[in-house]
Amino acid sequence: MKKFSIIFLFFISSLSYGQQTDYVDFLDLRATLTIVPDSSLVRGSASYTFKILKPIDSVFIDAKDMSTCKVLTDLPNNGLSFSYDGSKIWIKGDFKSDSLYVFNLQYEAKPKKALYFLKRKDEWNIWTQGQGKYTSHWLPSFDDVNEKVKFDLTFVFEDDYTIISNGKKMVKGLGTNLKPQSARYKMEHPMSSYLVALVIGKYNKTTEVSKSGIPLEYYYYPQDSLKVEPTYRYSKRMFDFLEDEIGFAFPWQNYKQVPVHDFLYAGMENTSLTIFSDAFVVDSIGFNDKNYVNVNAHELAHQWFGDLVTAKSGEHHWLQEGFATYYALLAERDIFGDNYFYFKLFESAVDLGKQDFSGKGTSLLNPKSSSLTFYQRGAWVLHVLRTKVGDQVFRRAVKNYLEKYKFGNVETSDFILEVERLYGRSLSSFVNLWIKQKDFSVDNAFDLLKKQSTYINEYIMVDCQAKSSKCAEYLNYYVSDEAKVKVISQVPELVTKETFKNSLKVRQAISKYVKKIPKDLKTDYESLLDDKSYVTIEGALYNLWTAFPEERPKYLFKTRNIDGFSDKKVRLLWIILNLNTPFYEADNKQELYNELVRYTNSEYNADLRINAFQYLNLIKSCNEDCLSNLENAKSHHNWRLVKYAKQLSEQLKEKQE
Ligand SMILES: [Zn+2]
Repeated sequence: MKKFSIIFLFFISSLSYGQQTDYVDFLDLRATLTIVPDSSLVRGSASYTFKILKPIDSVFIDAKDMSTCKVLTDLPNNGLSFSYDGSKIWIKGDFKSDSLYVFNLQYEAKPKKALYFLKRKDEWNIWTQGQGKYTSHWLPSFDDVNEKVKFDLTFVFEDDYTIISNGKKMVKGLGTNLKPQSARYKMEHPMSSYLVALVIGKYNKTTEVSKSGIPLEYYYYPQDSLKVEPTYRYSKRMFDFLEDEIGFAFPWQNYKQVPVHDFLYAGMENTSLTIFSDAFVVDSIGFNDKNYVNVNAHELAHQWFGDLVTAKSGEHHWLQEGFATYYALLAERDIFGDNYFYFKLFESAVDLGKQDFSGKGTSLLNPKSSSLTFYQRGAWVLHVLRTKVGDQVFRRAVKNYLEKYKFGNVETSDFILEVERLYGRSLSSFVNLWIKQKDFSVDNAFDLLKKQSTYINEYIMVDCQAKSSKCAEYLNYYVSDEAKVKVISQVPELVTKETFKNSLKVRQAISKYVKKIPKDLKTDYESLLDDKSYVTIEGALYNLWTAFPEERPKYLFKTRNIDGFSDKKVRLLWIILNLNTPFYEADNKQELYNELVRYTNSEYNADLRINAFQYLNLIKSCNEDCLSNLENAKSHHNWRLVKYAKQLSEQLKEKQE
């Protein structure tokens, strides 16, 4: 059946008297989906069971832009009619309270978003993103987060690939013997449709078991076995910590984490299946610069805050992001200590203060708030609230809140009421000041931090903006690494031989801020090239190459085999420096230039491509291959790459004219 966009439009008005969830409760969704990658096609058959709560004359399922959509079998209940308007499947009938219905359909979709087909080196990496994109582009489901359903999904795909979805993988039963290959995943509890996920790719996995017995599955590309430990470092520890801290047992059957190519975000907390960007797959050096720990903890915390209890609407979004940010911070505090915890709170208070100063601050309940507000201000609310009511009341209230609303939906007052109940007093002035008010209460936040942490007091005190005579001493005496970094950023010329004896973090600041290298620091500065930090190496290589032209071959030789992260920043810089060192490896220049151009093609990740385009533009050498890759980049699903590609090609065109 094709689209019926005209005939059935009149149904839409029949629901204007309220949300569908007040009238109908969908209980489960069973589907079998065949994924045809070459044509980016999904062919599915799906079965829905729903219960009528109050009499109604029509029921809908969201289904965006299906190419075909029809009833699979005769409807078992007489008098029902079916139609599809290109965005919703409508079932019309005289629905009576307490009756149960089953509805089957067959569809085909070529999703333009929410399900992405990537191919690299002839291998598929297919993944989904439901939040903000609507799962209903590839699986007729429910755009309303308040409709929670038990999913039971079977996927059919080519052999030799791993198929991963929400819930437990079933070994027997419906669909598990389909050809070429099928995998059935079944959820035990209901969830919102935006949390449905699918990943197909070439993966290996390692498994641990949490203290409470939950299987923790860590997926990785077969070539990345050496990166598994640094990438997933602290996973089990954080899982055990959060289960204990939250006081509510992990609500799902297992917990899987899967990196994918060119993901849209850092990570996404699909129920029991976190998908994250493979830019976080790092080796033990990369771990020191940019690691997965925070994202890992954040998405894990969402399994309770977001997945188990879901905000009813955008107004209460902080109940997801604020909680996930706060609990991630607690998990990191357990690993990295109190100073880390307070420093992160300090940094976010500074950012929130700046946001208000620029006039962009909003109430936490404004659905259009920035991520900074939802995430960091939300976390601050919980930190202040816990300080106010005490650990015991806070933790018991969170536990009660989860217990009361599990597998359901929540709003801000639901949480506050649980706290008030145990605290025994009204929190309305707290709610006004910290949650409702437009500005973040930055002065109160700083006062609290100063009371709670001597470390933050010291950090604030150490300030060399005005170049006091004490600043040289700060670098030599014992102040925290963060305070030393601050001094170096403010007065880089104070760095001496002694300063190099500090930690990796302080040495990283030297490579970042000390750009003019005095002769007497040359040897110490060269030692930065041996640090276990790609950020340090990249900065040091550039600064040394610039400062000591006669030593360029030495620096290039020393760093010739370093790639850096998956964005290959160190490698790209190395190529550019090499091309600009005429007497060094003169025969190799063309090959290196070709390598640089190669990184702009679609085989590589978006960040690497952007970096390569940037360098080619810098040396004014975007050749034909580069230009054609630039054109092709404009239709990528990653908006940053698209934006960059469009800007650069405009710029190049202007120059030509
Ligand atoms: Zn989040």
